[in-house]
Amino acid sequence: MSGCTDAPVLRERGQHEVFCGLTGIVWLHRKMPDAFFLVVGSRTCAHLLQSAAGVMIFAEPRFATAILEEGDLAGLKDANEELDRTVATLLERRPDIRRLFLVGSCPSEVIKLDLARAAERLNLAHAPNTTVLNYSGSGIETTFTQGEDACLAAMVPALPRAETANLLLVGALPDVVEDQARALLAAMGIEHVSVLPARRADEAPAIGPATRYALLQPFLGDTAAALDRLGATRIAAPFPFGEEGTTLWLRAIADAFGISDDRFDRATAAPRARASRAVAKVAGTLAGKRVTFLPDSQMEPSLARFLARECGMQPVEVGTPFLHSGIMAEELALLPECRLSEGQDVDRQLDRLRADAPDLTVCGLGLANPLEAEGLTTKWAIELVFTPVHFYEQAADLAALFARPIKRRALLLGDGAPGVRGPAPAVAAE
Ligand code: SF4
Repeated sequence: MSGCTDAPVLRERGQHEVFCGLTGIVWLHRKMPDAFFLVVGSRTCAHLLQSAAGVMIFAEPRFATAILEEGDLAGLKDANEELDRTVATLLERRPDIRRLFLVGSCPSEVIKLDLARAAERLNLAHAPNTTVLNYSGSGIETTFTQGEDACLAAMVPALPRAETANLLLVGALPDVVEDQARALLAAMGIEHVSVLPARRADEAPAIGPATRYALLQPFLGDTAAALDRLGATRIAAPFPFGEEGTTLWLRAIADAFGISDDRFDRATAAPRARASRAVAKVAGTLAGKRVTFLPDSQMEPSLARFLARECGMQPVEVGTPFLHSGIMAEELALLPECRLSEGQDVDRQLDRLRADAPDLTVCGLGLANPLEAEGLTTKWAIELVFTPVHFYEQAADLAALFARPIKRRALLLGDGAPGVRGPAPAVAAE
């Protein structure tokens, strides 16, 4: 089956409507309790983190913003000196910080503040207790999931080297989901599994030419390239969304490590059957409905594949901010024929969307409410990153995330005809 392997891709460059890479801090700081994220940015960046992120998390903050004031932006003050002072004060107050990320933003990029050099300098000053790294979450070029990619890619060169064969899982999943993956791999006979990012600094995974790695998220292209440079080899597979994606992802790892079919089947048969049954219960709401993805997270082709093949939905347009043909090759082969688009020119895309009038539109927060007011049913793309959706046990939850807005609109319209267009009063996107 070749699916969308050779499908034409509509490439657009224009105004795009997405969160910036700073958003990744919201889930990364939970994953790495001994890390701290210092955004070097403006009051706008601080507001994004403190309002958008602040309402989504209930934990002691492990992030802050070093505000670039007007004097910095006008080049009247030495921003480097101020940064050094801020970091010294922070680390004196918080000696528990083992990993400090200097996170670049639009303002630091515009004034060309060299955060890579700043991180080198600060690393020397605060070693060995704290490792200082840098990456960019600037909204000029990054979408919200690229923040995680940039963060993980920044960690790779500093990882210890390994000579022996090992398996590395790459991507920040909630601890409980990561534990499920380890349990499945252990049942297949693969015990020595490390994860990037590690929960604690002293658990950093070792990488070498005998390392095989499996990506957990489709948006980790820069991290994959950084691992490739150290000689590690990617295990090519679809991503572990839904029963089929999870099985194919595990199967590829089993093949790479010489696990027998018998052992594989014994480890996966029960959770596989459970996932299929659970998804089938939700799929009734989704079957036959048409879905469009606007470009947000780079997860779009994988999610469209899951919705089409396991839930019976029909993808109309699958937009993605960036289509990595290597990493996505296995996904595209499974994705049924649809319009594939990369990048965004938002007005043109909205024109296509209105003409297509799908039953469900997966899009960013900024577009969802206006589209609801026009009578389209929407799902917030960002929720798919915050919610545990990987592997067998979450397969039905993943389907339910898409089913909920369709059910809600049917209830609001009160006619039991989900997907019918027409403004529904007092609807808020979810
Ligand atoms: S990095 Fe840029 S897009 Fe993101 S909050 Fe700061 S100014 Fe806005």
